[in-house]
Amino acid sequence: MFLRPLLDLFFPPLCHVCRAYLPPGGAEHGLPRPFICHDCLAKIEFLEAPLCTTCGIPFATEGGASHTCGACLQHPPFHTCRSAAALDGPVRELIHRFKYRDRPHLSEPLGLLAFPRLEIFLKDFAPECVVPVPLHRKRLRQRGYNQSQLIGEVLARTLGAPQQVGNLCRWRWTEPQTGLDAGDRVTNVRGAFGVRDPERLAGKRVLLVDDVLTTGSTMRACVDALREAKVAAVAAVTVARGLQP
Ligand SMILES: [Zn+2]
Ligand SMILES: [Zn+2]
Repeated sequence: MFLRPLLDLFFPPLCHVCRAYLPPGGAEHGLPRPFICHDCLAKIEFLEAPLCTTCGIPFATEGGASHTCGACLQHPPFHTCRSAAALDGPVRELIHRFKYRDRPHLSEPLGLLAFPRLEIFLKDFAPECVVPVPLHRKRLRQRGYNQSQLIGEVLARTLGAPQQVGNLCRWRWTEPQTGLDAGDRVTNVRGAFGVRDPERLAGKRVLLVDDVLTTGSTMRACVDALREAKVAAVAAVTVARGLQP
């Protein structure tokens, strides 16, 4: 792109978080830039090893090798999961604006921020299709877009895998999970999801995408629906993960 340097000169890009001017520059990690300044980047807690190789929960200890956590050993889940960053600081702020302040374009910085941190996991898994966690049509009307689908678009484009929208569905209206405890969250979303056309997913390696992981109950309910559709494997990724204190 010859235009970009010229555009940067007249309209210097701003940091999506703090609106500071950014120095001109090209791609990072071979990807378009997420347009987040150094100071804001430094405040982001990216989730790194050691973590559970199955569910991706980071271990509190410094150093050491990643391994399977006790909970995953006891009840091995069907899917593996990773999140790029802790739901805190600039990431929390961006996601809040993205979801609740009508800023769909923030899927770009969030997706581009997450991708390099999930890249090894994603390439190891080698998904054949990307499936976003669906919204109920009532919520979709309220918000105007499905934030997980927009993040999924960035990941699908970067991975070169197609995104399948509208097949995994949220049949049943559920109360927002915010404010519910872990047990209520599981009951709230149980059986809320289903697959319209299982044949389009059967035997496939599916990458399930959501913006935030809290207790994982929404993710598990989606994975149950995908399993019923006889997918070969599911890996789930989110931009952020709420870490319980
Ligand atoms: Zn900034
Ligand atoms: Zn685990």
